[in-house]
Amino acid sequence: MGTTDLIAHRYGFMSPAYLKQLEQADAAVGYLWRTLSESGLDQRYNLIVQSDHGGRDHDHTTPHPEVLTIPWICSGPSSRKAYPIEGPVSILDTAPTICRLMEVAHEHLPWEGRPLEQILAVGKSEPAQALWTTM
Ligand SMILES: [Zn+2]
Repeated sequence: MGTTDLIAHRYGFMSPAYLKQLEQADAAVGYLWRTLSESGLDQRYNLIVQSDHGGRDHDHTTPHPEVLTIPWICSGPSSRKAYPIEGPVSILDTAPTICRLMEVAHEHLPWEGRPLEQILAVGKSEPAQALWTTM
């Protein structure tokens, strides 16, 4: 949802226009999740929601917590329910985590990230399936 970033640069992070854009992004994610739930597909697919960065004032070039702290959310049959992730998470961890969820070998790849083993549900019986979307 690149519009959120554009609005933040133009009007400022935490501006009313930015917060309105966040509401729209949240509504879009909610719509996606409701649609998956109503069709029963939430039992087959994991949904990962993340941001690439936060911001402060009108940019994201300074190393403040508001810039560096992002949401990283996974919901679905392969993830633990209502589990707050412990420790630092990087967007570099996303691809290895997706591979881990899907039980795709990734250890041989030169990635800097690592799978977030702590979010995995215990006792799942089959690999998760991928559902890709861009919003
Ligand atoms: Zn930006």
